[in-house]
Amino acid sequence: DITRLGVGLGERSYDIVIGPGLLAQAGARIAALRPGARIGIVTDRNVAERHLPTVEAALVAAGLTPTAIVIEPGEKSKSFAMFEQVVDALLDARIERGDLVLALGGGVVGDLAGFAAAALRRGVDFVQVPTSLLAQVDSSVGGKTGINSRHGKNLVGAFHQPILVLADADVLDTLPLREFRSGYAEVAKYGLIDNAPFFAWLERKWQDVFRGGAARIEAIATSCAAKAAVVARDEKETGDRALLNLGHTFGHALEAGAGFSQRLLHGEAVAIGMAQAFRFSARQGLCAPADAERVEAHLRTVGLPTRIKAIPGELPDTDGLMTLIGQDKKVSRGALTFILARGIGQSFIARDVDPADVRAFLES
Ligand code: NAD
Ligand code: ZN
Repeated sequence: DITRLGVGLGERSYDIVIGPGLLAQAGARIAALRPGARIGIVTDRNVAERHLPTVEAALVAAGLTPTAIVIEPGEKSKSFAMFEQVVDALLDARIERGDLVLALGGGVVGDLAGFAAAALRRGVDFVQVPTSLLAQVDSSVGGKTGINSRHGKNLVGAFHQPILVLADADVLDTLPLREFRSGYAEVAKYGLIDNAPFFAWLERKWQDVFRGGAARIEAIATSCAAKAAVVARDEKETGDRALLNLGHTFGHALEAGAGFSQRLLHGEAVAIGMAQAFRFSARQGLCAPADAERVEAHLRTVGLPTRIKAIPGELPDTDGLMTLIGQDKKVSRGALTFILARGIGQSFIARDVDPADVRAFLES
């Protein structure tokens, strides 16, 4: 019941291993790549409380030397201040070229630890041990690392591919339900982009995916395979890696409008954004209205929001949202770039979306 996928990037290729009980195998799997290495484990307090002892024991048993660096949970930790703290702690732990950084946590830990590894001594290898569903199906694969600046999210970073990804499906048992749902939006996204049979499978099996076991592993593996294929084709997002942004142009504007707070988690914003992308596509005559309804129905069934009015508290008005959409990096010379769809599993990059159409849609 262990699935192994490859990310094909020439000599920087790496494995993604998905299965149950992988934390306890982390030592043996890492020692096979770097026998005797020192391992700087970057993790957050929530994850450390539940899973750090298992990982440390596994590393020690395999003859590796771990040092844990525990940060505060939350997006605020993707900062210059925390970056400095983590890099200094890795240097204190005498992590050198040939040693490893291990990111044990969600996307925040993965992005921060990956960027620290990219910068430390001009690049130390790192291993991703993602512990949130979002990190397992999205952020741990693909090599984008970084932190936020006062100018915005993810504006400072590097491409730095991990040498191994270990996604233990069991660690998700301790993830809060709301976080699990949020990550599930990204799982559904892979079906909506180009895999209609996967979306139909999710419509039938989503409860099993939430419960755990074989269906969860299958959903993670299918998602990782989709991401790995896109990354291998277009590592630096010059072409069709942009399809992964389905739901993200609207979604980022809403997240920014809600101040990147607990009011709206990333996946919740993406769920609303994907429902909007399909409704907008239907409105533009690109996609059958029945497909847009099916997308919305499934997201609602699993408990995800699909409408702006589901977000608690104040949000910017249409003008404000249009400004935020325009600030998203997917804009060029007046026209907006959106990921739109001709149907479920038939998403495409639309580079010439008229802002007036988007405004009319938001006002409707
Ligand atoms: P996160 O890392 O903040 O984790 C969410 C919450 O769950 C945190 O409170 C964390 O402590 C907790 N948690 C994680 N695993 C747990 C577990 N097994 N048990 C109990 N609690 C657990 O958020 P996230 O949703 O994982 O990631 C979001 C971040 O990922 C954002 O910063 C986003 O920019 C980034 N991201 C990066 C990429 C990329 O390609 N690099 C892609 C998508 C998102
Ligand atoms: Zn996302």
